Amino acid sequence: MGSRPLADTYGGYRARLVETLRAKGIRDLAVLRAFGEIPRHLFIPEALVRRAYDDTSLPIGNQQTISAPSTQARYLEALALNGTERVLEIGTGSGYQAALLTYLCRRVVTVERIAVLASGARTALERAGIDGVLVVTGDGSIGYRSDAPYEGIVVAAAGPEVPEPLLEQLAEGGRLVMPLERGGGQALVRITRAGDSLREETLGNAQFVPLIGRHGHTGEPS
Ligand code: SAM
Repeated sequence: MGSRPLADTYGGYRARLVETLRAKGIRDLAVLRAFGEIPRHLFIPEALVRRAYDDTSLPIGNQQTISAPSTQARYLEALALNGTERVLEIGTGSGYQAALLTYLCRRVVTVERIAVLASGARTALERAGIDGVLVVTGDGSIGYRSDAPYEGIVVAAAGPEVPEPLLEQLAEGGRLVMPLERGGGQALVRITRAGDSLREETLGNAQFVPLIGRHGHTGEPS
């Protein structure tokens, strides 16, 4: 797990955010604790700091967003982590969700295709006093083989289907959570590996930016 963040004056705002998440149905105590500890204001542009602890998505540059806390909490809860796992996140964005993950598992690898965001996330993690997160710049639709297999994989961007390499890198019993494009919208899906079979559950609706890469949508390289 990562080291603990620096003390700051935003504790009251975080406590209120935790109450909001509880009211929206988040029950996993470790997830709630992570939101109570991680300084979200360090992961967003300075001009938006006063909205840092609102339950809302915010722009982080390069046409990308940091997702609303309740969305991320739902994702993290769906991963059902117990603290021992290796987790791969696709779509580092601001680095905030990767920071939350350091409270929930043993090892965090996160991949971001936009170099300037990956670099900003490294800086934000450092400012927050969080170490031990490997931030990789590249196409996360091919996963990150060096540290595989992963007991948890979380994809923060939507595609037509789960990229095959991610399924290959999912450990026995591991859970993968990702928004998939279905019927003109998006559905949040959890896949659990049991041997050679994959069990799929639909957890609700989602609204995410597209997964751009070899096993996602095509797009301009950054
Ligand atoms: N988890 C992030 C956070 O806490 O700020 C928010 C992620 S944002 C909703 C989605 C991110 O996925 C964007 O930063 C986008 O650049 C990234 N992305 C899209 N396709 C990708 C790919 N193939 N590999 C890696 N990152 C990708």
